[in-house]
Amino acid sequence: MGSTEGAVAEPQLRALKRALAFERKARCTDFKGRSTTFSKFMQKSADDLCRNYPFDARWSTLKVLFRQYPMLDLGTRINVLHRAEEIIDEASGQSVVTQAGSTGPDQSNQTNHTYRMQTNHADQVSVGEKPNTNLYKSLDEILVQYIKGAGPKVAALLHNLDIYTAEDLLRHYPRRHLDFQNRLMIRELRAGQEATIFGTIQSLGAFQARAGNVSILTINISDGTGTVCVTRFIGGRSNKYLLERYKSQYPKHAQVIVSGTVEIDRYKRRLQMKNAEIELLGTVDNQSTTGIAGIHDEGPDSLHTGRLVPVYRLTEGLNLRQLREIVHHAIEDFGYLLEDPIPQRIQKEYYLCDLRSAVSEIHFPTDPDTKEDAQRRLVFDELFIMQLRLAQRRYQADREESGLALNPNAGDLGARFRRLLPFKLTDAQERVFREITSDLSSTKTMQRLVQGDVGSGKTVVAIMSMLVAIQNGYQCAMMAPTEILAEQHYREMQKYLPSLGLKAALLLGKQGTKEHAHVCREILNGQVHIAVGTHALIQEDVEFHRLGLIIIDEQHRFGVRQRAKLKSKGVNPELLTMTATPIPRTLALSLHGDLDISEIDELPPGRKPVDTKLFFASQKRQIWAFLANEVKKGRQAYIVFPLIDESETLAAKAATAEYEKLRITTFADLKVGLMHGRLKSDEKEEVMSRFRNGELDVLVSTTVIEVGVDVPNASIMVIENADRFGLSQLHQLRGRVGRGAEQSYCFLIADLKSETTRQRLEIMTQTNDGFIVAQKDLELRGPGEFLGTRQSGLSDLFLADIVRDAKILEDARHAAIDLMKEDPTLDRYPALLKFLQAKTSENAPDLLGSG
Ligand code: ADP
Ligand code: MG
Repeated sequence: MGSTEGAVAEPQLRALKRALAFERKARCTDFKGRSTTFSKFMQKSADDLCRNYPFDARWSTLKVLFRQYPMLDLGTRINVLHRAEEIIDEASGQSVVTQAGSTGPDQSNQTNHTYRMQTNHADQVSVGEKPNTNLYKSLDEILVQYIKGAGPKVAALLHNLDIYTAEDLLRHYPRRHLDFQNRLMIRELRAGQEATIFGTIQSLGAFQARAGNVSILTINISDGTGTVCVTRFIGGRSNKYLLERYKSQYPKHAQVIVSGTVEIDRYKRRLQMKNAEIELLGTVDNQSTTGIAGIHDEGPDSLHTGRLVPVYRLTEGLNLRQLREIVHHAIEDFGYLLEDPIPQRIQKEYYLCDLRSAVSEIHFPTDPDTKEDAQRRLVFDELFIMQLRLAQRRYQADREESGLALNPNAGDLGARFRRLLPFKLTDAQERVFREITSDLSSTKTMQRLVQGDVGSGKTVVAIMSMLVAIQNGYQCAMMAPTEILAEQHYREMQKYLPSLGLKAALLLGKQGTKEHAHVCREILNGQVHIAVGTHALIQEDVEFHRLGLIIIDEQHRFGVRQRAKLKSKGVNPELLTMTATPIPRTLALSLHGDLDISEIDELPPGRKPVDTKLFFASQKRQIWAFLANEVKKGRQAYIVFPLIDESETLAAKAATAEYEKLRITTFADLKVGLMHGRLKSDEKEEVMSRFRNGELDVLVSTTVIEVGVDVPNASIMVIENADRFGLSQLHQLRGRVGRGAEQSYCFLIADLKSETTRQRLEIMTQTNDGFIVAQKDLELRGPGEFLGTRQSGLSDLFLADIVRDAKILEDARHAAIDLMKEDPTLDRYPALLKFLQAKTSENAPDLLGSG
């Protein structure tokens, strides 16, 4: 040691000072940094210093000071800090900057236990670096019963949560965190806070509650600034012996950290912390307040108190503390097995933290910032995998050259059809049709989604596309989600097809066997050019002679498998999907990354926005008067009832009751019809045709008329219990009017019980733009419900929310597309490939893609 005897390296002293300053700021709570508590850090440092400078008495003093620190009361702690600062200041006066290779303490050794408190990516400690066993190669080999703290009984409980392996456990993310970082002095406690205090046990009691099967421990804790009563509940009946045992877990004068919600005890008029988390830090034999020596137990670094504490989804019989500890053991013991599937380059480019820290921090965050980093990283992973799958499928589809190459100029059907139309196509319709023809004529198989607001004229574009296929000798199939809609498409086609010498056929589930067989025969032998229908189209016995183009209307209403099944009825048929529930383009691209997207973003000319107003049920009379007056002017009206509890039967009842009432009272002079899902097909068809022909003035209906129904003369839409509908659904319903030249009206009747309901419904009165409505609806209802989890691979998302995380979704999409360009087979990224394949086989049926 020679001349440097007693002189300590500056960086080490700085680290000590920083720790001291931080501990002061943390109000002497023995702050827990990223890897260790303050006192342990100080002890470890003092230990090193003692070893390196055995003749300097200061360092052994420091060591002794901090060995006792966790057991000291506040006042003494403050003194200790003060003394430590003095010692270090003295040493600073003599310090030298250690050169590499000098005789000072080993630099790398010292940074190893640097007191970490800053959030710093590069500085993050990865978890579970020390394998305690080399038996395991991957996390999914480790059954939960072999994780410390679990065992067969707990494992059985974990199975209820679908947790079977260590992997599952690590991916069982907390629902939220309790913020127990908020360390306060007892004096500062206020009712309603989530707080953590630090103190010593003054006295305690235990008793069996009079009511219920629970024993209660009451523990009085003081920290020199005050005393608070903390209670803990223990399930089950107790006898005297048991109560004593509970009490003995919390020895008098033990140092504890307590986290919980502060409440007012109404009887005793003082603050208490009810069923709080109590963490024993250590006990002191000697009752003197300075607590010299006699440490039994240093206590674990707390998982349950004084930090952001995870809260998990549980199952009966499993408690939070248990689960926290098991998860913690899994991270500690097996975290090192986490294999990071995301390529380094992408992690760097998108500023992602590494997977191990992310998993550790999502469960047991060091602070809110690291939790956010962890969350962002894991959200990215989920979205990236989803996007990569889409990008992969897209890449494969783009390489396939086996699609039909149709000649768009093969004949004059298109031109003749245009001459039959009573109107000119809008620019948007023309543009989208051009996009479709370019797909049809290429050797790649068309995979296109047409988004267009209700009434934008998608059907016409679909018919024109089908004419191209027919012209080239192919048949077409058009599938719609409801019979009414299928019938309407059929009828629309019947306006034009016969004069073009073409034949369309209608296939519905409710057709008789004879009719069904007849239609099937005509489709099979090629007499039918266009088969229109519902799910009936995908039945086994429906076979095509030469299916070349498939059109799916309201595509989100179909499952992926149904679409795939229809496709399998042709050899690489072209696919055109359509939706009137448009979603924002970026989101659409992200969700349907394997589809091309066209937008009909223009309504036919002359459409007036539907005048939409909100009403209370008590104002109905006003509405009926207005309605009757419009009918006198020759208009027609819909009155719609919602599905009640998802049951069409109940909705049908409500609609029927209202129909009966209105028919004989308010609208006795008008012709009123009734429509609901419980009517037979031909009854429905009859009612619809009477309404269409103007034989009915008013149609009382359930939501069966929601999609696509097109009666231009209808100009009034009354929606009862409008608060029960989603915005997109309301917009769809509203789309039934405003189709003619007349001013149309939509009246929403609702109990505006809550402010949120009112705000939600007011969006309808403010805009007629389906894109805006959809965006709002998406925000309000969340993507799962809005889009249907089934169709978009959303079921794989645990942490990610595509609305909230739209920005990360964009990043993930770019990353996935770039990676596909760079290495389409992922040969260079085996970990990623493995991950992708594992995930794919698990959920295969859902992952056939949007098409
Ligand atoms: P949606 O996009 O909601 O399916 P439809 O295809 O049902 O819309 O079209 C709505 C109505 O608008 C239909 O009556 C249709 O004949 C008419 N229509 C379509 N295109 C035009 C146009 N370019 N000009 C005028 N009317 C049109
Ligand atoms: Mg339509």
